[in-house]
Amino acid sequence: MSQETEHVKCLIIGSGPAGYTAAIYASRADLKPVMYTGLLAGGQLTQTTEVENFPGYPTGIMGPEMMEDFRKQAERLGTDIRFGYVSAVDFTSLPHKVVVDDVKTITADTVIISTGASAKWLGLESEQKYSGFGVSACAVCDGFFFKGQDVAIVGAGDTAAEEATYLAKLARKVYMIVRRDEFRASKAMVHRVLNTPNIEVLYNTETKEILGDGQSVTGVKVINNATNTETDLDVTGFFVAIGHHPNTDIFKGWLHMDETGYIITRPGSTETNVEGVFCAGDAQDHIYRQAVTAAGTGCMAAIDAERYLAGKEHVVTA
Ligand code: NDP
Repeated sequence: MSQETEHVKCLIIGSGPAGYTAAIYASRADLKPVMYTGLLAGGQLTQTTEVENFPGYPTGIMGPEMMEDFRKQAERLGTDIRFGYVSAVDFTSLPHKVVVDDVKTITADTVIISTGASAKWLGLESEQKYSGFGVSACAVCDGFFFKGQDVAIVGAGDTAAEEATYLAKLARKVYMIVRRDEFRASKAMVHRVLNTPNIEVLYNTETKEILGDGQSVTGVKVINNATNTETDLDVTGFFVAIGHHPNTDIFKGWLHMDETGYIITRPGSTETNVEGVFCAGDAQDHIYRQAVTAAGTGCMAAIDAERYLAGKEHVVTA
């Protein structure tokens, strides 16, 4: 580990809604939190456009602007917010050791992990070009903008199935692009998809390109990999639902995780298997993945950290 060291009471790793909410609560509990933002300061919401479902913004707000509000609030209450990424951790003994930017070691009485998750993308140039302008990885966030329009969704797992049925309630028609001749989703979810009249499943189909007019999406070019025939779908929205990966690689070997890397917390709390290490937001949640649920667990993590520290002080002075 590196030479430069610093000790903190509460270290928050990651700066999405979970991290900032943890910061707000930890600051007010006088834990003097230090936050390292990670490379994408503000998290996934800085890559979206309008957010309409976060309570407290009656006319909606742009994702980056909302995260700026979160940051200002945490900063005003006293959080020490620093740009940097955590490159390694050592949870062998107390206090916990965390290496930042490969050069600095922080020792921390409590660590709140809020590193989030990243949506998987197809990797097409056109997908990147129209991200936020018709291309989205979150139907619950952005489906509303396509009310009465035709959209497509790629993926065949439970997320894609769930999001396709969600979209079908808003959109006129939903094309579901499935690369094999069968779904990966559970039988119940597939049943729901197949029984939704305005969803058309395109099996053996892959996305070649997202079409657009330079401003927003106007269609999708797909290819049937069994017949090699190409088709253009007239859609204004393109949803990618091929999975997420939690940003938890640096904690592998230290924390209990499920098979896809989501950190396991004790039910009803944010405690991990390591004393004094808590986890909030999408890094531990593959089900809800909403800003408001992330914020909720961020609040829980700060309260859990505060109670943990209070319990330790009580033992020392008792
Ligand atoms: P999954 O990994 O289960 O599914 C991903 C899907 O995307 C697969 O169908 C896969 O196709 C497809 N896919 C992957 N890469 C590409 C690509 N490049 N092009 C086209 N298609 C691609 O992810 P989910 O997010 O759906 O689910 C993650 C976990 O969360 C699962 O365990 C799921 O059961 C769970 N979940 C549960 C829910 C619930 O219970 N209500 C709701 C949502 C998720 P292929 O099948 O061909 O590999």
